[in-house]
Amino acid sequence: MATKKKQVKSAVKKAATKGMKAVKQSAPAKGVKYVYWFGAGKAEGRADDKNLLGGKGANLAEMCRIGLPVPAGFTISTECCVEYLKHGGKYPKTLEAEVKAALAKTEKVMGMKFGDAENPLLVSCRSGARRSMPGMMETVLNVGLCSKTIPGLIKKTNNPRFVYDAYRRLIMMYSDVVMEKAEGIEPAEGKGIRKQLDDMLHEVKKQKGYASDTDLTVEDLQKLVVDFKAHVKEVLGKEFPDDPMEQLWGGIGAVFKSWNGKRAVAYRRIEGIPDDWGTAVNVQAMVFGNMGDTSATGVAFSRNPATGDHHFYGEWLVNAQGEDVVAGIRTPNPLNEATKNEQNKHLPSLETSMPQVYKQLDAIQKKLEKHYKDMQDIEFTIQEGRLWMLQCRVGKRTGVAALNMAMDMLHEKLIDAKTAVMRVAPVQLDEMLHPILDPAAEKNAKVIAKGLPAGPGGAVGHIVFTAADAVEWAKQGKDVILVREETNPEDVEGMRAAKGILTGRGGMTSHAALVARGWGKCCIVGCAALHIDVHGKKLRIDGTEYEEGAVLSLNGSKGHVYAGALDTVDATENPRFQEFMKIVDKFRTMGVRTNADTPEDARVARAFGAEGIGLFRTEHMFYGKGSDEPLAKLRKMILSKTVEERKAALNELFPFVKRDVKATMEAMDGLPVTFRLLDPPLHEFVPQSESKQAELAAELGIPVEDVKKRGEALHETNPMMGHRGVRLGITYPEVSAMQFRAILEAAAELIKEGKKALPEIMIPVTCCVKELDAQKKIFDQVYADVLAASGLKKIPVLYGTMIEIPRAALTADEMARTAEFFSFGTNDLTQMGFGFSRDDIGGFMGEYLDKNILPADPFQTIDQRGIGELIKIGVQRGRMTRPNLKVGICGEHGGEPESVKFCFTVGMNYVSCSPYRVPIARLAAAQAAIEAQSKKK
Ligand code: PEP
Ligand code: MG
Repeated sequence: MATKKKQVKSAVKKAATKGMKAVKQSAPAKGVKYVYWFGAGKAEGRADDKNLLGGKGANLAEMCRIGLPVPAGFTISTECCVEYLKHGGKYPKTLEAEVKAALAKTEKVMGMKFGDAENPLLVSCRSGARRSMPGMMETVLNVGLCSKTIPGLIKKTNNPRFVYDAYRRLIMMYSDVVMEKAEGIEPAEGKGIRKQLDDMLHEVKKQKGYASDTDLTVEDLQKLVVDFKAHVKEVLGKEFPDDPMEQLWGGIGAVFKSWNGKRAVAYRRIEGIPDDWGTAVNVQAMVFGNMGDTSATGVAFSRNPATGDHHFYGEWLVNAQGEDVVAGIRTPNPLNEATKNEQNKHLPSLETSMPQVYKQLDAIQKKLEKHYKDMQDIEFTIQEGRLWMLQCRVGKRTGVAALNMAMDMLHEKLIDAKTAVMRVAPVQLDEMLHPILDPAAEKNAKVIAKGLPAGPGGAVGHIVFTAADAVEWAKQGKDVILVREETNPEDVEGMRAAKGILTGRGGMTSHAALVARGWGKCCIVGCAALHIDVHGKKLRIDGTEYEEGAVLSLNGSKGHVYAGALDTVDATENPRFQEFMKIVDKFRTMGVRTNADTPEDARVARAFGAEGIGLFRTEHMFYGKGSDEPLAKLRKMILSKTVEERKAALNELFPFVKRDVKATMEAMDGLPVTFRLLDPPLHEFVPQSESKQAELAAELGIPVEDVKKRGEALHETNPMMGHRGVRLGITYPEVSAMQFRAILEAAAELIKEGKKALPEIMIPVTCCVKELDAQKKIFDQVYADVLAASGLKKIPVLYGTMIEIPRAALTADEMARTAEFFSFGTNDLTQMGFGFSRDDIGGFMGEYLDKNILPADPFQTIDQRGIGELIKIGVQRGRMTRPNLKVGICGEHGGEPESVKFCFTVGMNYVSCSPYRVPIARLAAAQAAIEAQSKKK
């Protein structure tokens, strides 16, 4: 038997090897395809290939397919990047042949040859991941310039200045990206090779009294490139490569490696982009915007990305290469007359400078928007009057712009209602719900500086001058405004931590401005009035100095800067927003409630569309405004020595509880209100300091010793798992009875007043059905008493439980025998499921995330793998006993979009979240329903 098996195996093996050999011999390059060519109206890839070709590569292919003028080239796939990084920087064997073949095709279409002495083709190497990561990875332009090709290119273009300018750019970029960063060299901030070369360039300009890079002469540049190369050799210890092929492979490898560069990794953490996606490399024939006054380069959006206005909008620079626009080195010109602003109104637009090209570009952006049915962000270059498209992608936008565009495109019939709902990310709504500077306060304040309105809304904060300080100050709970000379992608973490960003240089399309806008963060760029002294940590505007920590206010929608803290106001009255939310609700099937403990919160939440209260935390009436009296009664109750004393104290507390409960139900006007019985351990209400204890003793007329003793007696080692929640009700049944009575009497009174009341009573921190049964017995008794006293036949009320302990989820079939509804308390469920104290995770969660041990903070977004499993089990088992069991969630996760979507998939009836997150939850719920529908199809 064994021998037979062996024989069969070896026969199979032989056949397989034979097959492999045959394939190897006949077609050596067959196997995984890594290179995808595009050009001359044809392409091997298409828009749908983003995962494989990255966004840039897929869209270059698509633009070719629809007949737009795109310089030919090829994309090396993200799969190749993954292989390359996995094997410690080794290319797959078949890659070289594929690159050679694609390069030959590119040469043919462009009519030039890479490395040729007479007619040289130059190429760019650009990164491009599945999802856009603006400025986070590397690019090398002008690859192929060397001592052999320079003379030929000069002869061909008759433009030595252009050739040497292109060469000095190659040296700057290549030495930085390939010879320094990709080699893992990490110079101190401001000491990198690129900065050093940049300083040399500035020195020449200064010596010669030039205002702009374009003033540099051929001779200046010729000398500069020699000095540059010598400096590179001196600093990096290697010759600048003079072989085009060596340059090309260096560029390809460096782009791959930049996937693991610091900026890229930091950005991925913030954006939740997986590490294993990799980037593609796009190798593309160079076209030049720096060949003189009929050449130019620019970046544009088919609609305004900050406001959503339906205007072709963008910036361009004459005689420049692409990075000049995005790096914010020169203030760019406006694309057209209609979109000129404060900073660029004196500069000529493309519309007037090159009307024919502008017309062609305008037609292309319209075609692209129609094709992709979304706002496009495009990059173009004009080489001696001829237009070339270098990139298109769906443009990042602020939340305000996302909403405005979605509604406009819906009305223009470019998209349908479903698509409109999907176009706004739930978190983007946040921008519309958060403050803007109070227009009345702005009227009376003096604008101290004006810049470009790069990110919306208002921000008030203390100024800091480095990204690291922004992170540090924010950690200390301070609102900060990050002030920088120019928008720099390396500041990404500081930008994230800041409330607002203010820069002296840079345009609307500078990379960091794009990033800020993507986050909907208040941002002003290109504010020329700023004189920043980073080392002295000072800012001067118009002769006035502002030290680190000084407070400024920004209006990011207008680009206005004010000294001091201006008032802020909510921006919710936007009719567009209301209209959008109406459409959202047409698709939503899951309910959205709010967590509210006061009638005011309840009113705000209703205005935001809450369909009830999913969590009223009774204990909140003992904190904050107006809590003195009820707190005093509660303390009296806690310090009672006998049941009689406690009952008497509870009787005093009763009217306060009933008053709040009634006012909240009244504010909700018949919508359901879930009242949770007192949850925290009682010691939280006994003062700790001696003076406060003495005060309390005097107030209650008892010896201070009694207060102290009671405090000590209530002390627990682990109060979060101690005498709290239902355990209070088990040990002090009269405490639960008082609360049942307050809720039921309030409801009865409202009903008798002709109003509506729909209370739901919820027992917290339960772990077994017998707890619920014990409390239910008390409830039934109180219910009967209140009914009899009120003369009503019925008070509509539900009796249910929170599910916060893993055991409760696992025994949900039993819990549902008594509970008429479940509400998942995922704060505690996460705490008890992970064994992480919810109050102490600050000490380690940062490292857990940095070290990739957990993908996200489970207290912010539901851990679907573990805690989610408990939730699923809870819902399933609960409904086994009670098929129409009402299920919701009231932990913080109820307002977090991914968690809301999860709640939808497990079949919850509603989510409940804080008032300001209600619209976010509504949108997330609608999107979940739409996604589920389209999956079904
Ligand atoms: C929960 O535990 O998720 C919950 C809502 O209750 P609390 O946060 O009040 O403990
Ligand atoms: Mg809880």
